[in-house]
Amino acid sequence: MAKCDACGTTILFGGKRMGDQRYCNDTCAGQGVLLNRVRQIPDGDVVAFANQVHSGNCPKCSGQGPVDVRDSYQVWSAILFTRWKSTPHILCRRCGVKAQAGDLAISAVAGWWGFPWGLLMTPVQVGRNIWSMAVAHNPNQPSDALLRQARLILAQRSLQDGRSQG
Ligand SMILES: [Zn+2]
Ligand SMILES: [Zn+2]
Repeated sequence: MAKCDACGTTILFGGKRMGDQRYCNDTCAGQGVLLNRVRQIPDGDVVAFANQVHSGNCPKCSGQGPVDVRDSYQVWSAILFTRWKSTPHILCRRCGVKAQAGDLAISAVAGWWGFPWGLLMTPVQVGRNIWSMAVAHNPNQPSDALLRQARLILAQRSLQDGRSQG
């Protein structure tokens, strides 16, 4: 099955195609610009930065880590119109579960009211939240998702540095 080239989420339906890359939506496609830069970031820098985030305090509650990427999944519908997304949060586990519970509640209430995607995607998004809330990351090392985000953040920083210098 296809995976988003920006965030790594599995694309079940639709998505956006740019050249030979696939993305879940416009936001991810916008990150396509970053991808060239992303490939230039040395692996050692990525691992060092991911470890620093992972062992640091939670950016939201300032509580103790491990901090990792926690995805939350949302869907909402308005009759012929259904939108769904996954949002990666870099948070401690407690804050991650809160974000997932929030999106689960929104999806369970607002997801159903579209045909056919609302009916199809609501159980998927609700299930993804429940799965993510139940399954803990390995607390001893950064997940692949965190490594991916760390690489993106470093690439963003290096793009910004390039602009301010040039
Ligand atoms: Zn994506
Ligand atoms: Zn927290």
